[in-house]
Amino acid sequence: MLGPMTWDYAPAPESRAIVELRPSYGLFIDGEFIDPLDGTSFKTVNPADEEVLAEVTAAGPRDVDRAVAAARRAQVEVWGPMSGAERAKYLFRVARILQERARELAVLESLDNGKPIRESRDIDVPLAAAYFFYYAGWADKLGYAGFGSDPPPLGVAGQVIPWNFPLLMAAWKLAPALATGNTSVLKPAETTPLSALLLAEICQQADLPPGVVNVITGAGATGEALVTHSGIDKVAFTGSTEVGKGIQRALAGTRKRLTLELGGKGANVVFDDAPLDEAVEGIVNGIFFNQGHVCCAGSRLLVQESIASEVVDRLKRRLATLRLGDPLDKNTDIGAINSAEQLDKINDLAATGEQEGAQRWAPSCTLPGRGFWFPPTVFTGVSPSYRIAREEIFGPVLSVLTFRTPEEAVMKANNVPYGLSAGIWTEKGSRILWMAGQMRAGVVWANTFNRFDPASPFGGYRESGFGREGGRHGLEAYLDV
Ligand code: NAP
Ligand code: MG
Repeated sequence: MLGPMTWDYAPAPESRAIVELRPSYGLFIDGEFIDPLDGTSFKTVNPADEEVLAEVTAAGPRDVDRAVAAARRAQVEVWGPMSGAERAKYLFRVARILQERARELAVLESLDNGKPIRESRDIDVPLAAAYFFYYAGWADKLGYAGFGSDPPPLGVAGQVIPWNFPLLMAAWKLAPALATGNTSVLKPAETTPLSALLLAEICQQADLPPGVVNVITGAGATGEALVTHSGIDKVAFTGSTEVGKGIQRALAGTRKRLTLELGGKGANVVFDDAPLDEAVEGIVNGIFFNQGHVCCAGSRLLVQESIASEVVDRLKRRLATLRLGDPLDKNTDIGAINSAEQLDKINDLAATGEQEGAQRWAPSCTLPGRGFWFPPTVFTGVSPSYRIAREEIFGPVLSVLTFRTPEEAVMKANNVPYGLSAGIWTEKGSRILWMAGQMRAGVVWANTFNRFDPASPFGGYRESGFGREGGRHGLEAYLDV
C-alpha cells in the first residue's frame, strides 16, 4: 500500500568554526574599530537558541558626531575627488573579498539572524557581492547614466537598515553610495549587527580609505541621532512604515535628500490557467522564504475561486514537507524568528485572524524548546477587511483570499495602503501585461516571486516608500541631479 512517505534526514549542520566571534565589538569609525566616547553596550543573541553571541557598542551622540566628521573629511579630501575608475577598483575588491569569505559571512548571518544557511549561503551573500560588482561597473560610467556628463555626489549619506537581510541591505546601501562618490555612516539593526561589522573588517582588508565607510551599531536612538544629524546630506532608510514616516517628518524643511524603503503587503495572484505546481512553489517561496521577514513577501494569496480549494490542498501538502529547525542545518527550510519582540508581534496579529473569523492551519511540526519559533501558517476564509489581510505581519503567515474576475483581482490586490510588490500566475502573456499595468506595486513578478537582480530597480509606492534601489535608477538617489 502506498501511504504518505516521510524520510528522516540525518543532521547536516554547517560548521560554525569558520566564524571567529570576538567577545566585544567597538564602532568602526575612520577605518578603525574604536571604543565609544559616550556609547553604552548591548548583547546580540542567536535567535535559534538565545545564546549570547557578542557584546556590541551602542553609539551615543558624540560617537555619531565623530563618525559623520570622519565621513565628511573622507568625502571632501579623498573619495569625492577620486576618479570613478579608482573608486571602482575598491568596490571590485570588496566584492571579491565578499566572495572569498562567503562561507564565513553566511554562517555569521545565520547565527545572528536565524535564517536558514541555505538562504544566507545561496541568496544573501552572493547577492551582496553581486550588488558591489554591479555598482563597481557604474563608478567610471556615471556620465553615461543619463544624469549629465559629470553628475556630482550628494556628500555624506546616513544609512539605516533593518534586520531581515542585514548584509544584503548594507550592500544595497553602500554600493551605489560609494560608486557615485559619497561616503557613508551605516547603522545596522540592533538585533543583527555582526555581518555589518564583518563587512567593516572587509573594507579594512580592501584598503578602503579611512572614513569612506563607517559602521555605528546601536538601537533606534542611534539611528535617530544619525538621520537628524546636521552634518549629513542624504538619508537612506529601510525599515518599518511607522519609523519611516517619523523620519520624513523630522527631515521636512531641511536640505537633506531622503529615500524610504518601507513595509508591504504583497498580493500573489493565481489565475485558473496558472501552472499549479509552479504556482504552489511560488506561493511558498513568496511568503515562507526568510520566515516571511521580507518587505516584499507575497503575504496575501489571491486565488481564483474555481481553483481555490485545489490550490489550498496542494499548498498544505507542500507545507507539510518543509523542515523547521536549526538554521545552520543545510536541510532546514524555515529558521528562527529574529527576536522575541517580532515573535510577539506575529502571535498577536495571528490571534486577530482567528478572532475575526478566519480558519487557521499549520502543518504538524515540533518547535524547538529554546529560541524564537513560529510554524508556517495559512489562514483561509479571510475577508479583505481583516487585520491579517491589511497589516504587515512580517512572519511566516499567509492570508488566502479569493476572486472571480481579473478586475476583482486588481481591486483586491490594490486595496491596501502599501504598494511594494505583487505576483501574477497565469499562462497568458497579455493578461500579465494588463495586470502589471493595473497593480499599484513597485515590483511585479510574473510566474515567479522574490527574484532580485542588481540591475533591476526596487522600491515602493504609497506607504511602501519612495526612491529606487538597484539598477541605473539606484544611482539617482545618490547624485545631485
Ligand atoms: P524598524 O523598526 O523601522 O527599524 C529599521 C531600522 O531603523 C533599524 O536599524 C532600527 O534600529 C532603526 N530605527 C528605529 N527607530 C528609529 C528612528 N526613530 N530613527 C532612525 N532609525 C530608527 O524596522 P524593522 O522592524 O527593523 O524592520 C522591519 C520593517 O522593515 C518591515 O516593515 C519591512 O517591511 C521593512 N523592510 C523594508 C524593505 C524595503 O526594501 N522596502 C526591506 C526590508 C525591510 P533598531 O534595530 O534598534 O530598531
Ligand atoms: Mg542577533
